[in-house]
Amino acid sequence: MDKLQKYVKLIINVGVNIQKGQKLLIRCPVDCAYFARMAMEEAYAAGADDVLIQWGDEKSSRINYLMAPDSNFGKELEWEKARIQYLVDQGYNMLGVLAADPEILKGVDPERITKDQKVMATTMKPLMEKVSSSAIQWTLASVPNPAWARKVFPNAKSDEEAIGLMWDAIYAASRVDGKDPVENWKTHIATMQKKVDALMAHNFKHLRFKNAAGTDLEITLPEGHLWVACGEEAATGYNFIANIPTEEVFTAPLRTGTNGIVYSTKPLVFMGDIIDEFWIKFKDGKVTEFGAKQNEHLLDKVINTHPNADYLGEVALVPHSSPISQSGILWYNTLYDENASCHLALGKAYPYTVKGAVGKSDDELNAMGVNQSLAHTDFMMGSADMSIVGVTYDGKEIAVFTGGEWAI
Ligand code: ZN
Ligand code: ZN
Repeated sequence: MDKLQKYVKLIINVGVNIQKGQKLLIRCPVDCAYFARMAMEEAYAAGADDVLIQWGDEKSSRINYLMAPDSNFGKELEWEKARIQYLVDQGYNMLGVLAADPEILKGVDPERITKDQKVMATTMKPLMEKVSSSAIQWTLASVPNPAWARKVFPNAKSDEEAIGLMWDAIYAASRVDGKDPVENWKTHIATMQKKVDALMAHNFKHLRFKNAAGTDLEITLPEGHLWVACGEEAATGYNFIANIPTEEVFTAPLRTGTNGIVYSTKPLVFMGDIIDEFWIKFKDGKVTEFGAKQNEHLLDKVINTHPNADYLGEVALVPHSSPISQSGILWYNTLYDENASCHLALGKAYPYTVKGAVGKSDDELNAMGVNQSLAHTDFMMGSADMSIVGVTYDGKEIAVFTGGEWAI
């Protein structure tokens, strides 16, 4: 079996873990239609009852952004809302295929993007709620396209060569090798679960992050926080892996409990551009000050566009030795880059990372310290010298990370 087939099998049988009689929605760019068709076949082979494909096309979206009249932006999409609601009511599980040109939005009026994002966020809300509460099985998978591959491998002599290199990198990062990837993932999941168990047993009140880049940050964790790694159980009763690859063990910070300063350690790709070498200061959970050597005005957009994007919604631990980190590649893709490094996310916290939070309204969640926002922007702050100390409720200090690696 070739690696592509193995990768598709991994995505369908371990990622979404589709079962006999289940329904699957595949959201896929038209440019990589072959991948959606392979996934469809694999899903039916696994016993799926119905597989629906929703095609996306960022190139026509770009034309729309550049040429449509202003009045087209910010309009509610009632027909799309009805469609999404139907899919939710029918209990469709979801595979999202990501194959974006990192520069597709370059030169587009950011106001238009913001308006569009707001409309999309409200339109997609019923589905995103199912996703963020693990009510359905879902996964995201990446497929290379020429624009992405050439951005990541600028020295490649042709599109074909760049795409070949990209696939090799994706297979390596996803543990698709000579062996059975499904077995590789069983081992990987077991290793991550041990870290989850250790973190849960300590039930830390605070985590203290320090490194030479200048990070000196204390994050308070909410009571009843749950550490999560790959292999969540959906309300359907079946496990799924939201992201392949995944190396992170994560939870929600207490909305009002972050103090200190954090420095980024990798560039953040946002609206087709790069925000780099930035820092953010927090007081009682809220961003009070920030700065960036590159594109500070975009960091301002990240923090100040959506309400509550100036509070944290995720803290994720990733060892520096992860295969993605070791690849040394800047992927220009959060799914990969975030797995190269410890990271934080500004904006929405996942309710399933706090006991008793699933099913509560946004206001209730904010009040109980689980930040809710339309935004969720991950940024990388881990490093080879990252130290993380956990502080227990009785004041004991325990090393969680030393020298960028797990210490528990
Ligand atoms: Zn994460
Ligand atoms: Zn995240």
